[in-house]
Amino acid sequence: MGNRFVYADNAATTKVSESVLQAMLPMMTEHYGNPSSVHKMGREASRLLLQASGRSAESIGCKPNEIYFTSGGTESDNWAVRSAALLGEQQGKRHIVTTMIEHHAVLKCCRALEKQGFEVTYLRPDGSGLIGAEQVESALREDTCLVSVMTANNEVGTIQPVAEIGGICRERGVLFHTDSVQAVGSIPIDVAAMNIDMLSLSGHKIHAPKGVGALYIRSGIALPPFILGGEQQRGRRAGTENTAGIVGLGQALADITKDISGRSERLARLRDRLAEGLLRIPETRLNGHPTQRLCSNVNLSLRGVEGESLLLMLETMGICASSGAACASGSLEPSHVLTAMGLPEELARGSLRLSLGDDTTEEDVDYIIEKVAAAAARIRGRSPLWTEPQKV
Ligand SMILES: *Cc1c(COP(=O)(O)O)cnc(C)c1O
Repeated sequence: MGNRFVYADNAATTKVSESVLQAMLPMMTEHYGNPSSVHKMGREASRLLLQASGRSAESIGCKPNEIYFTSGGTESDNWAVRSAALLGEQQGKRHIVTTMIEHHAVLKCCRALEKQGFEVTYLRPDGSGLIGAEQVESALREDTCLVSVMTANNEVGTIQPVAEIGGICRERGVLFHTDSVQAVGSIPIDVAAMNIDMLSLSGHKIHAPKGVGALYIRSGIALPPFILGGEQQRGRRAGTENTAGIVGLGQALADITKDISGRSERLARLRDRLAEGLLRIPETRLNGHPTQRLCSNVNLSLRGVEGESLLLMLETMGICASSGAACASGSLEPSHVLTAMGLPEELARGSLRLSLGDDTTEEDVDYIIEKVAAAAARIRGRSPLWTEPQKV
């Protein structure tokens, strides 16, 4: 196969789609009014924002006035966790339940809250990255103010039993937040049916631009605002709205949830073809759950292959992938997710995450298989530590 360019890092970010771009452009050139202005330019911008709220709400089964637009997944997670803690504190509740495999946007907020006197239980997943609903249940206390468990993990793709966890939290009167940044568009999400109180979304993981996201807050929850200022977004998230980004997010959510089963079936077929091909490389293991995983995610560990070397070699072959999470690479720490799942450090360092997207083709998948096999053989060939597996 000749050289190609294959972007297989869609869990880090995605390309803005044509339909999102076309929805956004007039927001900058034509409908540039401030949605808070009373004149017709303002009213038009405000109408388009309302439409985006409606589309976003529809994609997760909530009401438009339960959607708050933010600057992205990180802000949404920060708002949910820190404000739920504030709310809990007012009721004398200072205990939080989360997991060891959350995104750092949740984990670092929890660490900061510990310094302020909160107690945090970090649940450990099983070897496939799964958190059991019963683990959450047995961690709940009288003073638990928040449970935060992600819908699907960004590194290994494992999908959590969020509806079950939501049911338990609702029964026990504990607020439940979930980070659905990676899950939306891969699995159907219905915040009402799943008993979710707060849910984080991000635009750039689903073909909208970077710098826009949303937090769903169930009506009736007195979650304190995170950014103070003007009266935008019912006074709960101040600042002139990122109208182009918001309209783009609304379009992206409508597009990606239009045909979830069709999309996920197509991607899952590619994912399985990719995983099968790569698992033929000797001493390679699939990280994450074999079936309860995102349709777009393959995460592997190759013994004797250091992740960063593999990535660099793949890049020369035209393949963009990642080792662990984008935000964690560059640091030499092994992935906190793989470590929590019990992988030995050597394997945690030798991980490769390939995340497929709507543009990925079968030819791309076959190209990745061929090149990863070649790169792994080359890296192993020059390592003095590598010994060929015994042939039986
Ligand atoms: C990317 C990501 C975030 C952060 O979203 P940003 O919009 O980049 O701030 C949070 N959680 C998960 C699971 C993610 O994958």
